[in-house]
Amino acid sequence: MNNITLAPIQVDQPSHLMPVFGRQPISFVRGRGSYLYTADGTEYFDALTGIAVCGLGHAHPVIADAIADQAATLIHTSNLFEVPWQTAAAQKLAEVSGMEEIFFSNSGAEANEGAIKIARKFGCMQGIARPKIIVADRSFHGRTMATLAATGNKKVQEGFGPLVEGFIRVPFGDLDAIKEAAVHHPDIVAVFVEPIQGEGGVNTAPQGFSYLEEIRQLCNQHQWLMMLDEVQTGNGRTGQYFAYQHTQIVPDVLTTAKGLGNGFPIGAVMTQGRGVGVLTAGNHGSTYSGSALGSRVVYTVIDLIQKENLVENAAHMGAYIVEQLKQQLADQHVIVRGFGLMIGIELPKACAQLVDIARDEHQLIINVTAGSVIRLLPVLNITQTQADHLVDTLVKMIKSFLA
Ligand SMILES: *Cc1c(COP(=O)(O)O)cnc(C)c1O
Repeated sequence: MNNITLAPIQVDQPSHLMPVFGRQPISFVRGRGSYLYTADGTEYFDALTGIAVCGLGHAHPVIADAIADQAATLIHTSNLFEVPWQTAAAQKLAEVSGMEEIFFSNSGAEANEGAIKIARKFGCMQGIARPKIIVADRSFHGRTMATLAATGNKKVQEGFGPLVEGFIRVPFGDLDAIKEAAVHHPDIVAVFVEPIQGEGGVNTAPQGFSYLEEIRQLCNQHQWLMMLDEVQTGNGRTGQYFAYQHTQIVPDVLTTAKGLGNGFPIGAVMTQGRGVGVLTAGNHGSTYSGSALGSRVVYTVIDLIQKENLVENAAHMGAYIVEQLKQQLADQHVIVRGFGLMIGIELPKACAQLVDIARDEHQLIINVTAGSVIRLLPVLNITQTQADHLVDTLVKMIKSFLA
C-alpha cells in the first residue's frame, strides 16, 4: 500500500450532484473484506457489498494489485487493435458459463441493451418487422431507454415516455401467460427474465428453477431466443457460477455485470446456440468495451472465484444462513427465500427504516427492496463466524421490529 494519507474531503453545500439517489447520511472511507470504515474508524459489517458487486470483498489485495499493475502498464488501446486480456477474460467467462461469443459492456444496463439488440436483429433476420420480447412483471433490467421499458416497474418508467416498444409483459413464473402471448403475437422473438428477481424483492418463481427449464422448452418449440439477465444472480452469487446452472439448460443469450468486476464497472452479453452470429461487424460497439484494465480485472475475479472455491462457499453458507433464519424466525410472520448468498426476508409490513436501524444500532449494512423485503448480498467468502453474527443481529432486529 502507499503512504498517502487521506485528508477528509470538504463537501460544498449545496451539492452539485443531480439528486437522483436517495442517499443515507454516511460515507465510508475505507473497506477490507466484509467490513467498511467511516473516517472516525467505526467498523460496519457489509451485507450488501455495493449491491452484489464486491463479492470478493472490499479492497481485495489480489484485485488491487492487478488493477495497479495494469494501470501502470496499459489501460486502454480501443478495439481497433487486438486486446489480449480481453481474449483471455472472454475465455474464462466462456469456461464458467458454457457460452460461446462474448461482448464486454460497461454496466448491466448496457449488457441488457446488447441482449435486446440481439433479439431485434434475430427478428429482422427472419423478416419480422416489429419483433417482440416477453418480459416479466416486477423485473429490473436497468435505466437506459430500452432497459427501463423492459423493466416491470412503473416508477422506473414514469416521466420517460414514449417508451421503447416491443415488450410483452407477463407475470413472473407464469408459463401459461407466455403460451397465451404466443397465440396472439406471431412476432415474438425472445423471452427475457431474471432467474431470481433482485430489485423486485428476491423473487424466486413459484416452481423454482424448473421455470427456466420450461421457458427453455417453449423457446425451443417456437424458435425464440431464451435470454437471461444474470446481472445480479451471476458470478457465484446464488451458489452456482450462473443461476441457470442450478438446471441442465443453457440460455441463448446471457447478460451479467455487478460481481463480474468486483467494483470495476464492467458487464458482458454472451451468446450460444441460436444467439451466435447474430451481431456482426459494425452492429455493436463501445469505446471502453473490454479495455485491457477492465478485462484483466474480470480475468482476475473469475480466477479468484475458481481458486478460492467461492461458488461452493456461497452455496454452503447461503443454505446455512437461510436455514438459521427460518429456524430462528419460525414464530415470526416472515418468509425467507433465496439461493446461495442472494437472500430475501419478506416481512409482513413495510420495513424501510430497518436499513437505518441496522446501520445506526448494529453497524450492519443491509438493503430493503420492494418495500418489505430485507435483501442480503454479503461477500461470497463469508465465514461461519460472520454468518452467525449476521443471523444473530438480524433475528434480534426483526423480532424487536415486529414485536
Ligand atoms: C443492477 C441490475 C441491472 C442494471 O445494472 P447497471 O450496472 O446498474 O446498469 C440490470 N439487471 C439486473 C437484474 C440488475 O440487478
